[in-house]
Amino acid sequence: MRTFAGISTFTEAQLRNAPVRWPRPSTLELPLATLAGVGPRLAEAAAGVGLHTVGDLLLRFPRGHRNRTLKRIDETEIDEQATIRVEVLSANPRRVRRGNLRIVTVKVGDDSGFLKATWFNQPWMAEKLTQGMILVLTGMRDKYGLQVSEYQLVASDSTAPSSEEGAEFIPVHRGTEELKPQQIRRWVGEARGWARNSIEALPAELRARLPLAQVGDAIQAFHLPDNKIDIKEAQERLVFEELFLYQAILGMRKRVHRVARPAPKCGQPGELVRRWIASLPFELTQDQQRALEEVDVDLDSGQPMQRLLMGEVGSGKTVVALYSMLRALEAGYQAALMAPTETLAEQHAATLGKLLAQDAIPFALLTGATPARQRRESLARLLSGELGLVVGTHALIQPTVNFARMGLCVVDEQHRFGVSQRKALDSKGPEGMAPHVLHMTATPIPRTLSLTAYGDLDMTALHELPSGRKPVTTELVTEGERAGAYELLREQLRAGRQAFVVCPLVSESEKVSGKAAEAEAARLEMEELHEFRLRALHGQMPPAQKAAAMAAFAAGEVDVLVATTVIEVGIDMPNASVMIIEGAERYGVSQLHQLRGRVGRGEHESYCLLFFEGSGALARQRLEAIAAEQDGFKLAEADLSLRGEGEVLGTRQSGLPRFGVAELPEDADVLVAARNEVQNLLNRYDSLEVPELGPLMDAARWRFGAGATDPIPL
Ligand code: ADP
Ligand code: MG
Repeated sequence: MRTFAGISTFTEAQLRNAPVRWPRPSTLELPLATLAGVGPRLAEAAAGVGLHTVGDLLLRFPRGHRNRTLKRIDETEIDEQATIRVEVLSANPRRVRRGNLRIVTVKVGDDSGFLKATWFNQPWMAEKLTQGMILVLTGMRDKYGLQVSEYQLVASDSTAPSSEEGAEFIPVHRGTEELKPQQIRRWVGEARGWARNSIEALPAELRARLPLAQVGDAIQAFHLPDNKIDIKEAQERLVFEELFLYQAILGMRKRVHRVARPAPKCGQPGELVRRWIASLPFELTQDQQRALEEVDVDLDSGQPMQRLLMGEVGSGKTVVALYSMLRALEAGYQAALMAPTETLAEQHAATLGKLLAQDAIPFALLTGATPARQRRESLARLLSGELGLVVGTHALIQPTVNFARMGLCVVDEQHRFGVSQRKALDSKGPEGMAPHVLHMTATPIPRTLSLTAYGDLDMTALHELPSGRKPVTTELVTEGERAGAYELLREQLRAGRQAFVVCPLVSESEKVSGKAAEAEAARLEMEELHEFRLRALHGQMPPAQKAAAMAAFAAGEVDVLVATTVIEVGIDMPNASVMIIEGAERYGVSQLHQLRGRVGRGEHESYCLLFFEGSGALARQRLEAIAAEQDGFKLAEADLSLRGEGEVLGTRQSGLPRFGVAELPEDADVLVAARNEVQNLLNRYDSLEVPELGPLMDAARWRFGAGATDPIPL
């Protein structure tokens, strides 16, 4: 008998006794405590950070590798990390208490010199250290000595370094208070052989073509590399795999949603929408035109639209939203627009009212504030199908709200709704059908991030602002330049313009912020702006009072609105020409950009003045980026490279993966490559759940959660 691909022949008995080895993935599901070094107490600490199994441990990759080439004491440099091999010279370590710091110091030395080694908050070290002991110490060198962050005892009679001591690169794992990085490293060392049991999820053809290392080798090498090349090759493979598996999840989720239920086929635009477009008091921008064309294709496909419309405040998203709704209406379906707050829903209703003025198409507003009788009436008309369009808040997805034939919904500021809320809306479609969904967001995110954050949606961006919008002159204002800035403000106010002053973000609490806004309004009224009419506006005010303040501002009865960031949403004031932002260094780029978007909406030259206090270089870079750039998409890119993905992605809380090795935007090229490979496979097999692709989707779900490919409406 021959073995697979072999040339020699074996007897059956020989084959049966051969030491056959293959991966046993089930072993990765064994509890962490299976490892010798893991007792019950540490196992509990590990479980607290999500490490339950040996497999979890192997996927908890180090956040980097430290080059641990041993240095001599006379080679170490102040303010730099160093690793030294030294002998304890003093007989008694010194113990000191400073505040709540407990400090242990001891004199250590090598052939080239000596220094003081210091341990913070590890009082037990005093007992441990004895004269003549050999230590390998890693830490920060300062002018007093070495602040030890890691130490290792080396038997004093051994001159040969232990295997770890000799390793050139030491993985730096993320630890916690109870679980030291060294602990994780020790376990990983013990578990390294188990990496062989990992399932190879990448198709062999792909792995050979790119080429990429085998999964077990890569995991092992990334945790405990022998050299630089190990790290590089392991990282290449693991980063690709992670992004590839996530794109596989997104690709399949999109596909599953597409084919799970059909959606209404809306045909081609008819007389109603054509007339409506012709009646608009402006020409559509090219971006808007393109968006409408894309929507047309989606609505006639028979599959549910899942499109994200991304465009800054004022970019004209509402026109696209309303167009989609009218298309559904014309095809005999109902359409809904859901916004996250009452204010936004009301504003949409006002805009719709304006845009529909010519056509007298009825629509209803449904929020928590809708009077009971009106609500009852609207519900009845939605159920009968008599009412075609509705705008509202979460009130729309209550179980009591039922539609005769809801064919399309628009979700504004979609990231502010949870999965269950979007699911509820999705279930309001006609029996056995999925409604078309148009998601909208005013927060532009860079393309590289949108591929992970919104990779399961089709995307349309409105870059171009409708004509008539002017760039806003943006300037940084230091403490010493405030007087000049107020002078500019007064000039503008005297010329009949209005202004916003945004108070500093003093705390998370609206209460404190509210007080700060009132205090600042009172101060300005006494001092710099005593000749003008001021009004405070903040989230703590009762809704009626807020509305009154906004109305007074809109009517020109108030010159300056002194506000907390509540004004971020919902005010269109063409006469406002100055925006002062106090404590600008505390805001993110996107937030500042959104605030700035509140001015420059009319024909007047407008200013955004960023007041800031002696801040760090990074904050200053952010402010300078804002001052130099008006395009929200470009700013989002800049923001990403300044802050890293974590914070930027904070915009979409649900459904975002936490990557273990991949980092954006650094790995953007790999992301695009991974996405293309996934698309190619989907085009070729029409699914990723085919025998040819083996365990690909199992591995992806194992990595990102069992329900990750469920057809959830996003
Ligand atoms: P968004 O919802 O993206 O913040 P809107 O749709 O509310 O923006 O549009 C902002 C304003 O610009 C509205 O008053 C709208 O009528 C107007 N508008 C929309 N599209 C155009 C256009 N192509 N030309 C001129 N004005 C437009
Ligand atoms: Mg809008």
